[in-house]
Amino acid sequence: PMKMRDEVIGVLQFAATESGYHYDEHDLSLAQDLARRAAMAVDNARLYSEAQQAIAIREDFLSMAAHELKTPVTSLRGFAQLLVRQLDLKREIDPARLRRALDTINQQSERLLRLIVRLLDLSKIEAGKLVLEPEITNLTTLIERVVDGFSTGSDIHQLEVQAPQKLQALVDPLRIEQVVTNLIDNAIKYSPEGGPIKINLSQETGQPNIRLLVKDHGIGIPPVHRERIFEPFYQAQSRGFAGIGMGLYITRQIIELHGGKIELEIPDEGGTCFVVTLPGGIN
Ligand code: ADP
Repeated sequence: PMKMRDEVIGVLQFAATESGYHYDEHDLSLAQDLARRAAMAVDNARLYSEAQQAIAIREDFLSMAAHELKTPVTSLRGFAQLLVRQLDLKREIDPARLRRALDTINQQSERLLRLIVRLLDLSKIEAGKLVLEPEITNLTTLIERVVDGFSTGSDIHQLEVQAPQKLQALVDPLRIEQVVTNLIDNAIKYSPEGGPIKINLSQETGQPNIRLLVKDHGIGIPPVHRERIFEPFYQAQSRGFAGIGMGLYITRQIIELHGGKIELEIPDEGGTCFVVTLPGGIN
């Protein structure tokens, strides 16, 4: 057997010839040595190809991240320069135009901040330093607050919340807010035609487990990508949508740190549905 780290990665076989030669102990030990070296060579080749793949993913990620960071900065600079020019020319700035410019500056700096926070989270996760700060939290209020924040952002999406009046759990509220924000953000982003987005929060009586469901009627996720969308930097769509494929990875890490899980369900009527199960509910 060709063994590497207790795993058999192949076998070395000797076929009988017509020479009548019989293999002895010496041949066996030679064969074993050969198998050991062959296993080492195969293992090295495997490790090398994995390392190459990881480097390629990192490189893709860096260029994608740089692009994603550049877009809002370009827009910020454009609007700031426009306003400065108007002031330099001592021109009266139309209040509606000023409002639009400031709104864009606001939105783009928020986008920039979100990306930077994600990059920081990613490095915390990789260093094993993402630590939760749990406290008793009313999840209904938390979700309503997040949804309110989205309500002014899109006219074509209808955010529908179904939740009990009060549902308390021992969770890190900022991190769970991040999870909910990310799932709703994706639901909106990947339903460019609009439509309803259902957010359902529930807990079975007497059970500690809480279920949070975020369901859209968007473009959906093709079967070939479903297994991998929680991996870092993985994207089902190659272009056309802003993003760097970190959101779901960070989301899953946060949920798993809480002892919960996140699953993808594909509704029969199309679209995408993410189901989060969290322990820690207080009845
Ligand atoms: P991104 O920054 O690309 O949105 P995420 O980690 O949040 O990264 O999501 C990973 C990928 O999963 C996305 O690029 C997209 O292809 C897919 N995805 C996530 N949420 C949805 C959704 N609600 N509908 C369709 N595709 C989705």
